[in-house]
Amino acid sequence: MEKQSNVGICELCGNEAVLQDSHFIPKAIYKKFSNIKEKGTSLYLMNNGESFPLSTQIKAHKFCSKCEGLFSKNGEQYFIDNALYQRALISEEQYSQKPENERRFKSYQEYIKNNIPYLVRFFIENIGYTTNIIEYIKPALSETEIDSLCYFAISIFWRGSLQWAIKPQYNLPNDVLREMKDYLLQKNKNITTFVIKIDISPPCYYVSGVNFPAKIRDDLYRFSIDSFIFTLEILTRPSSNGEYLLFGFNFPIAKSNFENFKRLFDKSEKKGNVPDELHYLKK
Ligand SMILES: [Zn+2]
Repeated sequence: MEKQSNVGICELCGNEAVLQDSHFIPKAIYKKFSNIKEKGTSLYLMNNGESFPLSTQIKAHKFCSKCEGLFSKNGEQYFIDNALYQRALISEEQYSQKPENERRFKSYQEYIKNNIPYLVRFFIENIGYTTNIIEYIKPALSETEIDSLCYFAISIFWRGSLQWAIKPQYNLPNDVLREMKDYLLQKNKNITTFVIKIDISPPCYYVSGVNFPAKIRDDLYRFSIDSFIFTLEILTRPSSNGEYLLFGFNFPIAKSNFENFKRLFDKSEKKGNVPDELHYLKK
């Protein structure tokens, strides 16, 4: 018999259905990090000042299987395949210390070049890293790719407004929530109340992890996954110019994202019996 306790109202479509074991941050992303982590290291989850090996993921019975399918098909898979490193990146020093038979590339530069995900390469070639704040621009990606990135970003920002077991919720204005839900349910693609800006961390501020969605200001929310920093900016006046997904490079944002992650990790109480140094934070 089906477990009756899992039947409820799906928080996205509003239909009564068997609710899935839904994840705040998609399960496939945990899985990806798990696959690419260095041998002998652990994944960490930081919450409320504690840091512990990632065995419990933030999840709850929230969405029906149909809506879970929408999340996965419309955004997650594209992001995972094109934005995330396929394996853990190590420093130049660590690379040079590897035994010769484990160094597949002639130089560290070659090693880096061969591991760069498609979207990071696209970003470097089209926008580039600069120490000056540049204007955010609509990326020259196909409509489908822009939709996939947008869908992914909206799904995470929207999920941040829901109640999860161990993550404090933030509220988003009703008109923003309405547009987000309509977009996620594919009822309306017209976004007018907010803009999503994507910054990419340069190697010196790279965080191999997730900064959960958080409110920065009433009109500003942010999360990051791997090199990608997503910022949701709520507009004071609705705009319908179709430029709701922008790419840019803002050095202070990358720096503060990195420092925020490092500060949270350093001050967290370490749980579990595993080494608690993050190799890529050693600078
Ligand atoms: Zn649903």
